[in-house]
Amino acid sequence: NTAMAAQMTDAHRRFLQVLMSHGIMEGSEARKLHRRCCEIHKVYYAHDKLDDFISTINSHLQPLFMQIRKGMSEGDGRAHYALVNLAETEITKMASDYTENELELFRKTMDLIILSENGFASSTDILNLTDQLKTKKMKKKEAEQVLKVFVEDKWLSERNGEYTLHTRCIIEMEQYILSNYQDVARKCNICHSLAIQSQICESCGIGMHLPCVRKYFRAQTEPRCPQCNDFWSCDIP
Ligand SMILES: [Zn+2]
Ligand SMILES: [Zn+2]
Repeated sequence: NTAMAAQMTDAHRRFLQVLMSHGIMEGSEARKLHRRCCEIHKVYYAHDKLDDFISTINSHLQPLFMQIRKGMSEGDGRAHYALVNLAETEITKMASDYTENELELFRKTMDLIILSENGFASSTDILNLTDQLKTKKMKKKEAEQVLKVFVEDKWLSERNGEYTLHTRCIIEMEQYILSNYQDVARKCNICHSLAIQSQICESCGIGMHLPCVRKYFRAQTEPRCPQCNDFWSCDIP
């Protein structure tokens, strides 16, 4: 990018501070915040200029190896914005907040989720890992607590006892996951982002996020795979 970086105003700084304190923000929340920040600091506002506003912040975050990234919630397809630290690997991002065996439990949980067919790991399967931990064994009760903290800290999300990676975790760790799980991690055939929860073509093996499946087949007369043109065998969500 050779363009001169636009100036950071107090509106940009306020936006960044609020996003930092949340870690991740849904698209509609971010749009509201954008408006509020511009109003408070009497800075030019246009409702369709959020991405420009963010790229101004990003050009100033670059020397700090940080970036605001946009990603999609795999459940409902809504856009989210997260502040990402580009200088650190997955482990150093989390290392200051958790003990060694908590990190090991997280890594093993991540393995289960990524290696699963549907992008979920059950609490039973995760809790069964606790006596395989090499760093330090963990009681099941203790592990349940740790899982709760991972959910609160937005690394995991939970539904009916099934765990998947939180949108914030996917946005932060996309590169890490793609390079460390090369043989199993998939990119969505529609939006080309990492897909953890996806439907997979039985014939050619491509995957698509559920919201991307929904959107793609809405415009098609027959559900056929965009890659191999075979009939799409999964139920359209
Ligand atoms: Zn997708
Ligand atoms: Zn196919």
